[in-house]
Amino acid sequence: MRYSAVVAGCLAVGMAVSWLSFARRIDNTQYDRIVSKYRPDWEPNSAVVAIDEQTLRERHGVPNAREILSEALDKIAAAGPSVVAIDVILSDEVDAGKDARLEASLRDTPRLILPCDLPGSDWEDPLPRFQSTTREPPAHVELMPNPLDGVTRQIPLERAVHSDRRWALSLRALALSRGRPIVESPLDVQVGDILIPARRADPGRPLYIRYLPAGRIPVVSVLDIDQHRDAIRGKAVFLGVTALSYSRDRLTNPYGETVPGVLAHAQAFETLSHAQFLTEAGDGIVLLAAIGLAAAAALIFGLLSGWPAYVLAAGLLGFAHYLPELFYRNNVLLPYFAPVAVGFLSVGGAASYQHFFVRRQLRRSESERSRYQQAIHWAAHEMRTPLTAIQGSSEIMARYNLPEEKRNQLSTMINSESKRLSRIIQTFLDVERLADGQMEMKREPFAAADLVSSCMARVAPLAERKQIEMTLERSADTSMVGDRELMEYALYNLLTNAVKYSPAGTHVRVSSEIHNGDLRLAVADQGIGMDSKEIKNIFQKFYRTKRAEASGEVGTGIGLSIVEQIVAHHGGRIDVTSEPGKGSCFTIVLKAHAEAADRRG
Ligand code: ADP
Repeated sequence: MRYSAVVAGCLAVGMAVSWLSFARRIDNTQYDRIVSKYRPDWEPNSAVVAIDEQTLRERHGVPNAREILSEALDKIAAAGPSVVAIDVILSDEVDAGKDARLEASLRDTPRLILPCDLPGSDWEDPLPRFQSTTREPPAHVELMPNPLDGVTRQIPLERAVHSDRRWALSLRALALSRGRPIVESPLDVQVGDILIPARRADPGRPLYIRYLPAGRIPVVSVLDIDQHRDAIRGKAVFLGVTALSYSRDRLTNPYGETVPGVLAHAQAFETLSHAQFLTEAGDGIVLLAAIGLAAAAALIFGLLSGWPAYVLAAGLLGFAHYLPELFYRNNVLLPYFAPVAVGFLSVGGAASYQHFFVRRQLRRSESERSRYQQAIHWAAHEMRTPLTAIQGSSEIMARYNLPEEKRNQLSTMINSESKRLSRIIQTFLDVERLADGQMEMKREPFAAADLVSSCMARVAPLAERKQIEMTLERSADTSMVGDRELMEYALYNLLTNAVKYSPAGTHVRVSSEIHNGDLRLAVADQGIGMDSKEIKNIFQKFYRTKRAEASGEVGTGIGLSIVEQIVAHHGGRIDVTSEPGKGSCFTIVLKAHAEAADRRG
């Protein structure tokens, strides 16, 4: 469940990031990479007649542009093109004589399309005298450089200003060369049997140009038309300026080449007339591809582990990388970034989740094992003392003929030590189950005073043996709720420690009191004590202070860790104050049973 959430998160992040402009830039460069790999190559249906540097030089430059156009048109008409589309704006009056001559040449050019310009917020159409030479309405010559990197991958098939809509020069040329009208619907534009997928909803109805490699579309200088009539005959001719010094619109194509605008119009015409259209995969398909990749990543790491998973994941990423190319081969544009980002993120997310999950499992089972070993160690150690006592006493009883009184004493001792043994075993099992989270701790009320007195009674012989005085300073008349067995174990442990780590002739003070609604069970000794660093560690399993080791007292370093667990399970804590050489005070702080507190207060 959490695993799928992690992978779904990776999917969401990948999709969100793919909307950022850097992702779009990456989409663009990948588009260019794929397009360059699959350059189209077909017989061109168009030709460019170029007003190039040489033409301008020989015909005395731009001031003579109208005359150059007249000359070009006359020669082109003589070569018999299918259509002539002019990419030179003719909206200004220049010179009455030159304009009249151009008008005459235009009139003599059959199937002619003139361009219009959009310098500001209104169309600039050809002078009426020029426009009157053709029945075709003017066509726009706008390009559509990408706002992020300036590369011209598309042209707008239509441009509209104040609902005055103009079709692109290339589209008009197509319609005119086929002798068919341009028919539009919300989803596409149709010319004869050519259906162009270009939705009205996308501003300008953009068309992806599939650029033929440089040199495939013949470019004939105005000066050389007569020698290259074959290249023009029957073709759609695009007449425009290619001279660097004059050309207004140079563009960069996806191959990284700089191309004059007129050539881009010819390229768009090629795309149209060969009906080689690219459509963008919709958001739904992109999302579907991303979901597929994320699900595959999740499955790979969910079902496999180790190197087979990584090998498959690498294959999946390779596939994600190749996916846009696969789509492109079917004339569909799939963005590159979204699937690849989702692929990488999901593989990374799924792999790390599995990695950490598996590691965590392993750590947990290792710590369980070591906890269990420690617990066994503790039980074995704790059981040794009563066992030795039982063994010793029973041997004495068997071997010697003892007086009645002594026999009674020994059998009482055997009895109490075996009870102690069974208590140790019970505690061991309880603590194990507590740590496992298996055991419902008992929740029964019992008097705090009983707990304290029975623990003190059990420790008394130990204290006596070491000549340590043990006194009960204060005894709260309150009851508490919890597991009596476990609490007894905890307090007993503190008491035995106090006796163990105190020299003979000292004093151990025990007290239980209610303070601010808390029940405080304190055991204070005058023993070896601890410094603050040692205090921090004593609740760790197996930790023993150097002082304790040096004291000659045996111990396992486990008791306090169990005490802490028990107290924590009762919702309490243990406070420790101590000073080396002076003594320690361990206080179990528990919430007092409300009833009892009320009764007292
Ligand atoms: P053990 O007593 O078996 O070593 P515990 O977990 O009960 O294990 O105690 C851990 C350590 O804390 C002891 O080894 C000792 O160094 C220190 N310690 C516990 N109680 C006292 C005390 N009353 N005075 C001084 N040191 C103590």
